[in-house]
Amino acid sequence: MAEFLEHYGTEEKCRAALVAARWPQGFRCPDCTHEGHSTFIRQGRQYWQCQRCRHQTTVTAGTVFEATKLPLSRWFLAMHLMTQAKNNVSALELKRHLGLRYKSAWLMKHKLLQVMVEREAHRVLKGRVEIDDAYLGGERPGKPGRGSENKIPFVVAVQTTDDGQPVVARMNRIAFTKDAMQAWAHTALAPSARVISDALHCFRAVAGEVARHTAIVVGSGRQAVTRPEFRRVTRCSPTSRLRFPGPTMRSSLPSMPTAILPRCSIASIVASISNPSSPDSSALPSSPARGPRQ
Ligand SMILES: [Zn+2]
Repeated sequence: MAEFLEHYGTEEKCRAALVAARWPQGFRCPDCTHEGHSTFIRQGRQYWQCQRCRHQTTVTAGTVFEATKLPLSRWFLAMHLMTQAKNNVSALELKRHLGLRYKSAWLMKHKLLQVMVEREAHRVLKGRVEIDDAYLGGERPGKPGRGSENKIPFVVAVQTTDDGQPVVARMNRIAFTKDAMQAWAHTALAPSARVISDALHCFRAVAGEVARHTAIVVGSGRQAVTRPEFRRVTRCSPTSRLRFPGPTMRSSLPSMPTAILPRCSIASIVASISNPSSPDSSALPSSPARGPRQ
């Protein structure tokens, strides 16, 4: 907390951090990339005006902070709480810590999660990687597991250390076909990765994309879960309680991957927020589906 306050303890410090992340080489006009500019304050907000095309912008324009009425220092404190927590921080906890209404805390949490998940969408797993198939849903009766018609299939991949400790995981919705698996492996796994999976037919498609693929024939049910080779991935489903050294980032968008992250710094999140390809917050649900748990 002392380190956080030193770097982001005031509104001015937060704004300076955002300016530095957005324009690390100094201001560049977002329209014409010209560097010459002037600044002025209007209704309490600082504006940058391009000297060539007269375009006016603020440091928060086009970011998740653009329409916010909350001070940046609250957002930074929320980022601190969300990135330093051992487990997920609930919207209710954010509400208490930040002194916000529940709906504001919920929206803030989901906007920041979206930034963090989109930032992770391009993460490539390397080294030792366990992969497995997982299924979410299934409230309606039907066949269990892989044969089910009413479950959403996911591929779960866990990058581990060489001695099997989990580092980071990603889950993607996927159809379990060879073509889909190959395309997934191409984007999600580094060519140097050493992949371990069970003998599900479509997993063979991974072999052409990575340095090594070991398919282990296991029995069904509990037999597979107890195999030491899959110790991490079989405990890591979309509803997982597997403990990672950091919070779980679940996207609000069903098409987006879920990333389970190592702890990350506020600076890296601010850099993602400042990136023009940062999230489309209009794609977020506008309010909590349910009220806070009492
Ligand atoms: Zn310009």
